[in-house]
Amino acid sequence: MVFESLSEKLQNALSKLKGKGKLSEKDVDLAMREVKLALLEADVNYKVVKDFIDKVKVRAVGSEVMESLTPGQQVIKIVNEELTNLMGEKAEKINTSPIPPTVILMCGLQGAGKTTTAGKLAYNLKKQNKKPLLVACDVYRPAAIKQLEVVGERVEVPVFSMGNKNNPVDIAKAAVEYGKKNSHDFIIIDTAGRLHIDETLMKELKNIYDSVKPQEVLLVVDAMTGQDAVNVAETFNDMLEITGIILTKLDGDARGGAALSIRSVTGKPIKFIGMGEKLDQLEPFHPDRMASRILGMGDVLSLIERAQASIDEKKALELEKKIRSQQFTLDDFLEQLDQMKNLGPLDELIAMIPGVNSKMIKNLNVDEREIVKIQAIIQSMTIEERENPAIIDSSRRKRIAMGSGTNVQDVNRLLKQFKETKKMMKRFNDMGKTMNKKGKFG
Ligand code: GDP
Repeated sequence: MVFESLSEKLQNALSKLKGKGKLSEKDVDLAMREVKLALLEADVNYKVVKDFIDKVKVRAVGSEVMESLTPGQQVIKIVNEELTNLMGEKAEKINTSPIPPTVILMCGLQGAGKTTTAGKLAYNLKKQNKKPLLVACDVYRPAAIKQLEVVGERVEVPVFSMGNKNNPVDIAKAAVEYGKKNSHDFIIIDTAGRLHIDETLMKELKNIYDSVKPQEVLLVVDAMTGQDAVNVAETFNDMLEITGIILTKLDGDARGGAALSIRSVTGKPIKFIGMGEKLDQLEPFHPDRMASRILGMGDVLSLIERAQASIDEKKALELEKKIRSQQFTLDDFLEQLDQMKNLGPLDELIAMIPGVNSKMIKNLNVDEREIVKIQAIIQSMTIEERENPAIIDSSRRKRIAMGSGTNVQDVNRLLKQFKETKKMMKRFNDMGKTMNKKGKFG
């Protein structure tokens, strides 16, 4: 869960206000003191915390709260709105050039996730039917060009490179020319990172900037580094006008400091967040959804978007037909599980449901291994058995258990579950039919 500890502490502090018929200034003060501590412990910039608390307090003792019938809820609403404002109000898209190609310059320190993120961005654009080109401008690290080529191959996006004998400015210029000739609409330039900010690196970036005039300068920073990430962003922004920030490694145990401070400190928007090492784990950043997630209010919109992106509509329609005609088999069940796995880790999905907090997820004990087990069991069945589970007698059950490395109880449980699911589907179908008929004949 993102920012687990911060989320838990904020929810805890605010829960004390819930359900109170009247709030005194002292109640608000006490809750805000806890909120302040939680933010500071999450490594949010001190000045940002102070401004945030001041703003919330002024609104919380004002009439919008005091005259409300549910003052506690009102304060939570204010905290949610101010958290959103802190992170930038609304989601910001990539700046594009009116005449393609759009040039995107990626920069950041070594290890922040620049190369991976360049690949993720290319993948993201390709999925939107764009034609990106990746450019290898890190000529210092021997493995850097190769790394970008591997990433490019994985996302099936071409990589422009001229080896490490040329200087990055010439490579960038040549890449833009090549991109124009080959009708690429996005050119993503991966540049060299250093362990620390240094003069030479900045000069080089500035030279590339001046020669290709990018529409986007995206700074990639590691969210796990907290305030250091904010300092890095400030320095880059001073020396090279950045246009947006990509925060990586939000899937790890980042405390939240970078995400909550970076916008206020630099004035530049967070445009994307990295949610894992895989190349499809880049999400557009929505400040309002992030605030809701932190406050345990869920993120239904992201959940729906994720489902839309990973579920094959044609297959879903076929499945619906099968359910209607009672032809849903164990094979279909297997396919369903596969599609669900594409959605991402289960606990991450559950965390997006409103009202679910980190404590509940721990208690739920979501076990991905159970799904793997079910898959193994179905895969150990013959085609005939998957089509018609009624033929699975006790000797077949033993064989399936052996084949899948499980035991007969596991097989029994799955068969029972499947039977129940089919029964439920039939009930829904029948219900649908009755309702249709009623509708038709009035
Ligand atoms: P670069 O030196 O800035 O180009 O960084 P790399 O792209 O080589 O990434 C450094 C490490 O961070 C690699 O092991 C990546 O797999 C990992 N990484 C990048 N983005 C993410 C992310 O969003 N989540 C996680 N968990 N790891 C990431």
